[in-house]
Amino acid sequence: MKYFLILLIGMFALNSFSQVHICGTKDDGSMMERLEANKRIMDQHINFRGDNDWIYVPVQFHIVSNADGVGGVEERKLIEELCTINKNYLPNKMKFYFTPEFNYIKHNLLYSDPGASFAEAKIKTSKNKNALNIFIVDNIASGSGFGQVLGYYSPLLDVIVIRKNQIGISEQTVSHEIGHFFSLAHPFYGWEENPYNAVTHGNPLKIQKIQWGGVNFDIELVNKSNCNTAADKLCDTPPDYNFGIVDPEQNCKLNGPILDFNKDTIKTQENNYMSYFFNCGKYQFTPMQVAAMRADFLHSLRAYIRTGVIPDTTLINASDFKVISPFENETTAFYDQVTLDWDDMPGATHYLVSIYPPSAPNNIKYIIVKSESKLVLSDLEKNKKYTWHVKPYNVGNTCTNKLGPANFKTGAYTVGIEDELNAGEDFEIFPNPVSDGQLYLYSRFSSSDVQLRMYNSLGQLVESKEIDLTAGTNSLNLTKSNYQHGFYNLVLKTKERDYIRRIIIQ
Ligand SMILES: [Zn+2]
Repeated sequence: MKYFLILLIGMFALNSFSQVHICGTKDDGSMMERLEANKRIMDQHINFRGDNDWIYVPVQFHIVSNADGVGGVEERKLIEELCTINKNYLPNKMKFYFTPEFNYIKHNLLYSDPGASFAEAKIKTSKNKNALNIFIVDNIASGSGFGQVLGYYSPLLDVIVIRKNQIGISEQTVSHEIGHFFSLAHPFYGWEENPYNAVTHGNPLKIQKIQWGGVNFDIELVNKSNCNTAADKLCDTPPDYNFGIVDPEQNCKLNGPILDFNKDTIKTQENNYMSYFFNCGKYQFTPMQVAAMRADFLHSLRAYIRTGVIPDTTLINASDFKVISPFENETTAFYDQVTLDWDDMPGATHYLVSIYPPSAPNNIKYIIVKSESKLVLSDLEKNKKYTWHVKPYNVGNTCTNKLGPANFKTGAYTVGIEDELNAGEDFEIFPNPVSDGQLYLYSRFSSSDVQLRMYNSLGQLVESKEIDLTAGTNSLNLTKSNYQHGFYNLVLKTKERDYIRRIIIQ
């Protein structure tokens, strides 16, 4: 077991796309049927490929965890993933947007084996009826034993399932499966579990058909004579006999020359999203693939995602980011009630806030803030420096970089502190509650350069000034307009020590 684990970790460390990694999509016949229908639309409407309207696709992400709620993919990675998908599909004029909320599913079987029948039953009942559904799980069983399945599109359930380790790290996996969702086959259709091998298949190729799942598939020729009926049935994707998966170097380059049955030299398209070549950097769809996907969006079976909604895709201007509190390098009054506050940013409906102590940058926390531009934190440590960033986004645009950094240090006090300005000690405050803004402080001694700070119940500093105290009664002359009804914390910092007292303003 230990050896196996080490081997597995080693594989991932060397190359996240080891050659045993595959896509688990299997057509039940319905995908090719849709593709044929889409091709007829493409043929009928000769200008279809020039159709320039944006297509908007709602995406429902399902965050699957184990039954205890542990192990689900981090939301922030899905925010990055949506940006990646939208960058990849920009040339297609297809825009993907979040349905308002992530769906959280606690389910051991769906988490670890989504192809199991009880897991599929859970998928059926969890689907969003008006979105492209993507379930993010921990593991996918490799049915055929051929390789490690990274993700798949299920034509029967009409959903995409992705291993969580592919989210936010791979430019290709999710975009590839979305290609399947919109009716695209692999360019090497038929060679899925029997990739090209010169010894078995010959070079030049000595066979004209390849068998998969008991079906014989025509092998695509270089001269395009059968490109309409062989492999993915799209003529601008050149022959591919699943060369990518067996490429020993995994360098996105066909290990050629390889000749087809006619002895024509194959020039494949390594960096096609639907191929199995890895590490290509930038991938692409061919014009016919784009046209097929766009036609598929108009298919009657896709009516459920044509909601007519045009999502908010406003670009967010990074220069609109302005921190209100804490001010840069401020020491907050309390450590267990710190309000991060920033200006509302035009176009942003959500903010992903990240915060970490610079002394432990890996100890980073992410919090999503909706419909306001502030966040109250109650779980920070006292007397500690923190750095925070804000990534603003909306449902259709999650590509704005994180903004900041902003820095502060937490104070030493808890908001739950008992009065420390008790009668009989050095100071006494009266009256409390205050009703007319006139607050008095009785001091047993005189003291110069005393820092007076008032914090509201959110931990925000509302008044700060230096005062000189005389022995006896002092009027504190608070700025009345700064105060609303509620609880406040008055902090007095003398040279010797700090005092704090909760004040009620009525
Ligand atoms: Zn695939």
